[in-house]
Amino acid sequence: MLLDKNSVILIFGGGGTIGSSTALHLARKGYKDIRILDVYPIPSAQSAGNDLNKIMGTSLRNPVDRQLGIEAEDAWHAYRVYSMKRSNDPTFSPYYHRSGRLDCSGSPESIDDLKETVAKLQAAGLGHTVEWLDTEAQIIQRVPQLALGSDIRGWQGIFFERGGWLSAAKAIDSVGKELVRHGVRFSFGDSGTFQSLILSDDGKTCLGAVTKDGTRYLADRVILASGAWTPSLVDLEDQCCAKAWVYAHIQLTPKEAEAYAGCPVVYNEDIGFFFEPNEDGIIKVCDEFPGFTRYKMHQPFGAQEPKLVSVPRSHARHPTDTYPDASEITIRKAIDVFLPKFENKELFNRALCWCADTADANLLICEHPKWKGCVVATGDSGHSFKLLPIIGKHVVELLEGTLQEDMREAWRWRPGSGDARKSRRAAPAKDLADLPGWNHDSAVSDEGEY
Ligand code: FAD
Repeated sequence: MLLDKNSVILIFGGGGTIGSSTALHLARKGYKDIRILDVYPIPSAQSAGNDLNKIMGTSLRNPVDRQLGIEAEDAWHAYRVYSMKRSNDPTFSPYYHRSGRLDCSGSPESIDDLKETVAKLQAAGLGHTVEWLDTEAQIIQRVPQLALGSDIRGWQGIFFERGGWLSAAKAIDSVGKELVRHGVRFSFGDSGTFQSLILSDDGKTCLGAVTKDGTRYLADRVILASGAWTPSLVDLEDQCCAKAWVYAHIQLTPKEAEAYAGCPVVYNEDIGFFFEPNEDGIIKVCDEFPGFTRYKMHQPFGAQEPKLVSVPRSHARHPTDTYPDASEITIRKAIDVFLPKFENKELFNRALCWCADTADANLLICEHPKWKGCVVATGDSGHSFKLLPIIGKHVVELLEGTLQEDMREAWRWRPGSGDARKSRRAAPAKDLADLPGWNHDSAVSDEGEY
């Protein structure tokens, strides 16, 4: 059945990044019967996007990623997607801090990669938006805070004027407020938690979904935008692998925070990254590594039998979870390099945060080939928060049959096309079962969590 503005549309994971964006674009286009469903109220406490900050950067990996990055930067900065004239979109623009971004390294291999990036930017006509920084002095000129003791020996890098950070949880909250104004309906908790699909007698058409409390929702379209949980909820035929990355916070005094105000995002692919302090003087520090899996025997909806699936464990449901002991070492190392004057500060809010990798790091946004009317919108591959203002526009295009061909091709159903467990990461992900230190409530059961 073709969609019309009265079609009933369910969006599971609507409290997260891709789901809330999809609801927003549907609502802005005049769709009247949208319901978002999630385990937690928007911004969902377990969304990867429910975070202090995320990097706004443009990827040049392929033309689709480049287009998305440019559209997203525009949308955060000053562009209302459905208006011809450029203006601030108040749903998003207050949450973009265009502080600039430094991508840097001291290792010859990574410096070669950075030089290749500059060449690609020039080839794409974007050379004027970046500056190559050849020496430590040039780096310090762009990021004066790195003169405060940071170990930047041998570093070279790229400075991106059009980049910075996004106040992530606040931006999703802002989307949620606009959804309320549009009259979008919400189901959270057990009545918003996906359990199964309702299928036609021949099993080929999706007629709706059942939630954990047994509520049956009938719908014209069911969208599964449930992030790292999606491969546990329905059988994605191993196209996505849930992986966790980690972060920790440090608290600065007001005087310390003042010195780092306006600091560009510093990203070193061998070490990690950090952001300027937020309004409460908190700095988030991340290390860089291939992610952690959590494989269990589990039977997602549509699978014939239980299989090995990497299943997320929500920090919201397990608030005493932290991260593996190994992460404490790499996060501390990042602090020693970037922010050595804070090496003795206490770390807090140590957390695992879950994403869904695909083998080729492209999104998976398409109709499920077995169930007409069921659309998956996932495969964020750890770099999709920045797409919050615009990704929903493309999901709506898919629903309406107008998605541009290269996106349709990149985001198609593609089992067997590669190893999502490895993805394009430098090494295979380690499994949390082999890593002590993160689980502090092993007595609490995961039963019914996914
Ligand atoms: P989510 O935002 O996680 O949303 C999934 C939603 O599904 C959640 O709300 C969840 O509650 C819901 N859900 C789960 N199970 C169910 C169920 N059974 N029923 C209903 N709903 C359910 N990206 C960037 O662009 N820049 C960055 O700097 C960046 N840094 C990152 C740093 C870390 C440490 C991590 C972990 C990720 C980072 N990312 C970054 C990636 C980014 O956060 C993700 O790509 C993006 O948020 C994923 O969006 P999503 O909508 O697919 O999933």
